[in-house]
Amino acid sequence: MTKTYTIAALKGDGIGPEVTEATVKVLEAVEKKSDFKLNILYGEAGAHCIPQHGTNLPAETVELIKKTHACLKGPMTTPEEPGAPVSVAVTLRRMFNLYANVRPSRTFPNVESLKPNIDLIVVRENTEGLYSGAESLLAPGVGVALRIITREASLKVADFAFKLAMKRKKHLTYIHKGNILRITDGIFKDAVKEAQKKYPEVEVDDLHIDAATMQLIKQPEKYDVMVTTNLFGDILSDEAAQVTGSLGLAAGANIGETYGMFEPVHGSAPKYTGMDRVNPIATIMAGAMMLDWLGEKAAAQKIEDAVIAVLKEGKVRTHDLGGTAKGSEITAAIVAKI
Ligand code: NAD
Repeated sequence: MTKTYTIAALKGDGIGPEVTEATVKVLEAVEKKSDFKLNILYGEAGAHCIPQHGTNLPAETVELIKKTHACLKGPMTTPEEPGAPVSVAVTLRRMFNLYANVRPSRTFPNVESLKPNIDLIVVRENTEGLYSGAESLLAPGVGVALRIITREASLKVADFAFKLAMKRKKHLTYIHKGNILRITDGIFKDAVKEAQKKYPEVEVDDLHIDAATMQLIKQPEKYDVMVTTNLFGDILSDEAAQVTGSLGLAAGANIGETYGMFEPVHGSAPKYTGMDRVNPIATIMAGAMMLDWLGEKAAAQKIEDAVIAVLKEGKVRTHDLGGTAKGSEITAAIVAKI
């Protein structure tokens, strides 16, 4: 029997609608070549919802998400004033306990990369750390943010990273700042060591976050799976994306026990809104990660192969890759390959 997957698509703000629509075109192209069906339900979320709904994540969107198997999320603008609604991504990660943020970075053909042969994945704890949202003003000019690290969440993300390492090169690097954050990163380090007991075949090493940012420039090809806390993982994965070419190529998955949300690593890049200028590949690759997570490995591979073929040909290149092509042109080229 043909399987049907119900997908929540949130187009978001800024460049979000164009990269999400591009991804839906690619998903529909691969659906035609596969024996599953996609039932795509569009939901509203993002800063553009605030004037009308008073929130960036209306209750009806949450209800819509609950009816779906997975979510394809476009980037959204997060207002920075104190008291403004929390980022939609952060809210959804917590609401659906999407505890592992998986962000692959690798060299692509014809894409200028700092070093050749990079193929690493940053696994970022996704529900706590400095993203706890617990921030307050103690006195005028004196603020405090709580960096919450628990054994439970650290163990979960560490176990996820070890499982991933077992499927890859059996090499895991954990990143922390245990020399300064002795209690919080002490808990994180202990959790990784505890999780390690179940995976004796995995070679494990560790780096302080400052050394890790330097190592990603110096010898990124040495790393495979890197696991770390929330903010460190956010910074490292953006760095890894740029080291391998462009934020416009970097996709991410937010994985929980029963639900997955897939999005580009980049934000809403408001200055490029409506210009058809940015690279849709990051979101398209997030779509491929979604199909892979749903179990449609061949379809996911078809998308990846089409993206690589287009990059290899090098005829259609967006501005971030040194070309002049429009985002819609690269989407059309990928659809044609599928
Ligand atoms: P950003 O990722 O939106 O943009 C930074 C720069 O990266 C852009 O100016 C552009 O030069 C480049 N870039 C981003 N996406 C690209 C693409 N697809 N193709 C080519 N180049 C691309 O980061 P920012 O400026 O720090 O944030 C803008 C807004 O996005 C903020 O409101 C922020 O909160 C939000 N944001 C949202 C998410 C999310 O929804 N998950 C993630 C990060 C940032």
